Amino acid sequence: MTATVAAADRTVPADERTMSAAEYETWAAEVRRLADERGAVVLAHNYQVPEIQDVAHFTGDSLYLSRVAAETDAREIVFCGVHFMAETAKILSPDKTVLLPDHAAGCSLADSITAEQLREWKAEHPGAVVVSYVNTTAAVKAETDICCTSSNAADVVRSIPADQGILFLPDQFLGAHVKRVTGRSNISIWAGECHVHAGISPADVRSQIAAHPDAEILVHPECGCTTSVLDLVSHGDLPADRTRVLSTGGMVTAAAASTAGQVLVATEIGILHQLRSLNSTTEFIPMNARAACRYMKMITPAKLLHTLRTGEGAIDVDPQTAARARRAVEAMIAIGEPGRGGE
Ligand code: SF4
Repeated sequence: MTATVAAADRTVPADERTMSAAEYETWAAEVRRLADERGAVVLAHNYQVPEIQDVAHFTGDSLYLSRVAAETDAREIVFCGVHFMAETAKILSPDKTVLLPDHAAGCSLADSITAEQLREWKAEHPGAVVVSYVNTTAAVKAETDICCTSSNAADVVRSIPADQGILFLPDQFLGAHVKRVTGRSNISIWAGECHVHAGISPADVRSQIAAHPDAEILVHPECGCTTSVLDLVSHGDLPADRTRVLSTGGMVTAAAASTAGQVLVATEIGILHQLRSLNSTTEFIPMNARAACRYMKMITPAKLLHTLRTGEGAIDVDPQTAARARRAVEAMIAIGEPGRGGE
């Protein structure tokens, strides 16, 4: 099922799968049987391959999945996503076993800052409040005052007294977006980026908008194109009422409700499967069809099955690091509903 719409309400575009219908049914039946046998819940990120999104008990963005993980009665969580996401699930559910089908599934954004680099940055800015996007390692979260998602980042920043400096990390595009919408000047932004989102360029935006002049536009704030899209909106070159900057969760909700003929989507292309499943009358078009995350695609149907058969791939977070990281995540939750924000 998805986070917002029951499975029964979805029309799965089976042609997006690489398996035949018969292969999918056989594989999916085995996945569900093994999950039941293990007492496991299978969680899938929106950027996973279609088969995994469809077979999972829950599909959504990273923070939503972590909250599902914390609330489930299941003994074991099989996390189909990247390493920092499985770590976050473990941080919030320290007593559960969290399995990641391939530990090499990393994240270029999370890897753009280490805990050591953050400690050095903090030493240069004594007294500053550290705000970290959820796309960070457990060790970086442990050095953080408060986490944020892409949907609540502005609220998190507004919750910090105006005269206090802020270190925002690791995503420069999300940081620039937050700085713009809050009008805050005392924010230092780490120059990190996700190679997939940064690869969606202003040139892609211009050519796709020219080819689809009536389309609605959904943009994830990590995209390198966000600044140029917002510039085009402020100069009246794009209709403000048809252009929205949304988290992946926000995109899923907007897509389900859309009555537009065409929607241009600027984020990792895996999410198109969710959007098309939820709304078969709108055409969802990627802003850049090559925007695929190789780390997300490392979790294959075969690896998921292997994990369920063997129980291999447990995620371990040192309890002290986990406790410090948990404080940063809980500080965010205390500010308000994080929604289905983040990646
Ligand atoms: S799409 Fe980018 S931010 Fe997301 S997991 Fe892949 S590398 Fe990381």
